[in-house]
Amino acid sequence: MKREEVFEFFRRLAEVNPSPTTELESSNPYQLLVAVVLSAQATDASVNIACRPLFARIKTPRQMIELGEESLRDAIKTIGLFNTKAKNVIALSQALIDQHGGEVPRTREELQALPGVGRKTANVVLNTAFGEETFAVDTHVFRVSNRTGLAPGKTVDEVEAKLEKIVPQPFRRDAHHWLILHGRYTCKARLPECWRCPVINLCRYKPKTPPPEERARSSADRSGSRASSAARTAKGRTVEKPTAGRSRSRPNRLP
Ligand code: SF4
Repeated sequence: MKREEVFEFFRRLAEVNPSPTTELESSNPYQLLVAVVLSAQATDASVNIACRPLFARIKTPRQMIELGEESLRDAIKTIGLFNTKAKNVIALSQALIDQHGGEVPRTREELQALPGVGRKTANVVLNTAFGEETFAVDTHVFRVSNRTGLAPGKTVDEVEAKLEKIVPQPFRRDAHHWLILHGRYTCKARLPECWRCPVINLCRYKPKTPPPEERARSSADRSGSRASSAARTAKGRTVEKPTAGRSRSRPNRLP
């Protein structure tokens, strides 16, 4: 995608949603870090449901340690991989107390050194809690970047590097939120909703998904033509074959 197209792409997403943010609920950087760790291979909605009562009581790493792994496991048991995640959250809470005075560190290296924290989690925390211009590539960002031709890449690292290179100001800080929300609600994995997409004429994906009415019409047309072709075949089976020498245009006489 050309430079001007990239600018226009984000300008339109920004027009639709001027203040995008994460859908994970939290009230401080520590809770955000915990929520992002819990959200691996789980939906934000499922994490919010489990974390609402948990975060009402637990706001610091020390309170999490006092809660203990068993109670944490019980609190998050509706989220996938809860056993491993509970272990990681307790271990990272202890590391925050031991190495960072109970605060969430502000550098990628320090964040990634915490148990259960990978590059994507570090990027989300740096961006959402500390306002850094980072590009967290999750499944939605990866799909949208590739489909549209915005930042194609075979791996998440490749896509992240391309986004880092091409996203212009003033969109750099919120770019990954726009891409996540666009992928989650419009450019969906199974059926992108191209007919209502604000960036349709900038996107390279083909064929574009037509509106529901048009799809319903063409599926009705298809079933109609399947039915008449089946009827023709059935009729053909009951008709005697024309005898040799007769004109092909001559109608067969049914008994
Ligand atoms: S036009 Fe379709 S494929 Fe392209 S970004 Fe929009 S929804 Fe996705």
